[in-house]
Amino acid sequence: MSKQLILASNNAKKLRELQALINPLGVELVTQGSLGIAEAEEPHITFVENALAKARHAAREGQGPAIADDSGLCVAALGGAPGVRSARYAVDAGRIAEGLPREQIDTANNAWLMAQMQGQPNRRAHFTCLLVAVRHADDPEPLIAEGHWEGELLNEGQGEHGFGYDPLLWIPAYQQSAAQLAPEVKNGISHRAQACQKMLALIQHQWGLGQGDRWPWQL
Ligand code: IMP
Repeated sequence: MSKQLILASNNAKKLRELQALINPLGVELVTQGSLGIAEAEEPHITFVENALAKARHAAREGQGPAIADDSGLCVAALGGAPGVRSARYAVDAGRIAEGLPREQIDTANNAWLMAQMQGQPNRRAHFTCLLVAVRHADDPEPLIAEGHWEGELLNEGQGEHGFGYDPLLWIPAYQQSAAQLAPEVKNGISHRAQACQKMLALIQHQWGLGQGDRWPWQL
């Protein structure tokens, strides 16, 4: 039996990034969409609750182990906002209509964030990525891995790479914004990369992979 892990996302970039990291374990990621599983609701106010809800949903519908992520930008001076609402920050504020192309929403999110930060001297912010993996829908011991990528908010966007809030987050160690970093550099150090590395170790050690041919449902 091949070792499959259901990815509770249909995002091709996430699939590639996670698959590359998980390759050494001989595990194949399959997106929930390819199994006909609908996306779960994300009604919660924390990353961990949303990721857990998504992972349990995918495991229940797909009848197998599953992994999910939730991510966003957390700004210190805004008490951690936009946080879990990052993708919908400007929509929530009524600055832009729902359902428009992703690029337009991203532009509106960035503009709304800059408006909120006007005159604010504390520019500290970080991207968070929260990954949750479960062996089955009712797993009492979900694996949880978190990555933080710290930076400072710029007054205006710089750089063309990446997506979302990347142009606004200045990474002091590189003296570039996240959107100025080459994608392969960002993918090696980002919140997502950090969470993925931690999750890889957790899957190896907690689920016993790499120490024989076991897989969660055979524990
Ligand atoms: P999701 O987890 O892919 O739904 O991402 C949530 C939102 O957080 C995105 O729509 C972006 O607004 C923001 N975000 C998450 N990761 C990144 C990143 O690496 N760069 C820029 N924005 C990000």
